[in-house]
Amino acid sequence: VTGDNTAIARLPAGYHSPQLDVEVRLNTNESPEAPPEGFLDELAGAVRESAGLNRYPDRDARLLRTALAEVHGVRPEQVWCANGSNEVLQALLLAYGGPGRRVALFEPTYALHSHLAKLTRSTLVVGQRDGDFLVAPGEAERVTALQPDVILLCSPNNPTGLSEPRSTIEGLLSAAGEGLLVVDEAYGQFADWSAVELVDAAAPAAGASPVVVRTFSKAWALAGLRLGYAVARPEVIEALTAASLPYHLDSLKQLAGVLALRHDDEMRARVERIVAARSMLAGGLASLSVEVWPSDANFLLFRPLHHDAHQVWEGLVARSVLVRELSGWERLKGCLRVTVGTTRECERFLEALAEVLV
Ligand SMILES: *Cc1c(COP(=O)(O)O)cnc(C)c1O
Repeated sequence: VTGDNTAIARLPAGYHSPQLDVEVRLNTNESPEAPPEGFLDELAGAVRESAGLNRYPDRDARLLRTALAEVHGVRPEQVWCANGSNEVLQALLLAYGGPGRRVALFEPTYALHSHLAKLTRSTLVVGQRDGDFLVAPGEAERVTALQPDVILLCSPNNPTGLSEPRSTIEGLLSAAGEGLLVVDEAYGQFADWSAVELVDAAAPAAGASPVVVRTFSKAWALAGLRLGYAVARPEVIEALTAASLPYHLDSLKQLAGVLALRHDDEMRARVERIVAARSMLAGGLASLSVEVWPSDANFLLFRPLHHDAHQVWEGLVARSVLVRELSGWERLKGCLRVTVGTTRECERFLEALAEVLV
């Protein structure tokens, strides 16, 4: 079907980050390490023994939601799982956004947030982050005064790196009224606190409790699994269920999620290794002619001081290193983002960058 009158023709272009065949892939914030061997063995065994693939999956994903509820100290009715946190965000906007509703966010931030707002034909309310790319109290006030139905807040923020202090989230919650505050914690395991602490099952108004969105794609080393979830008040979980397809979460994924959670210690150890590699990487960048921003996540934002960002990106690709170029983003002109890889990958990146910047 063609023609400008089709609904598809009026949609924004799809969201994607270019992939190239290189040796050092540091462009999509994946884990540089594979998931634990023990997990893979358990998964292979469980697929044979208990996947029940002739039957439809458990629509309520009870085992997985119960396991996640235990991790976060909430009730299973407060957890909702989907195919990646991107699908959780989509369901949230299907349920709470849409024509005639306002969706607020603070730029620069994860591009999928505004993309989903447009896709659901919500009215976008754009706030601006401050110099460190955090949300200043005055800007939070200005945005909440416009009474958004949904506020999307990425913390730690992608692609800039810092997480918001508790006071900012509390300020937004108390000003949000009936609006829903969604905190995207894709990098939550790298931060020193989580807004899950503020989820209140008995909160009287929607705005009084955040919806926290998490993923298995980053710290859990399972980007290929496509599994994410929300922790929220039970009413929000009911709305998300109503906005999703029946049997949207397959049996294999439910099984894999439950088994992955048993390897929590290994996940934490991996996060520690990545944080150590991040310090090394930040130290290396500091000795080159680039500006580097602080990070509470598994990536670093940087800007070459005397070189064009696109040429730097090309120079790195020529040395088989792929990072994310952000130079086209308003407020991030000349910037690039590098994922923290293994120590060896970080070294390869630093060597290549030093060559490109001569
Ligand atoms: C990577 C990322 C996600 C993860 O999306 P999945 O669909 O779970 O892979 C979500 N939000 C942000 C901000 C991210 O950077």
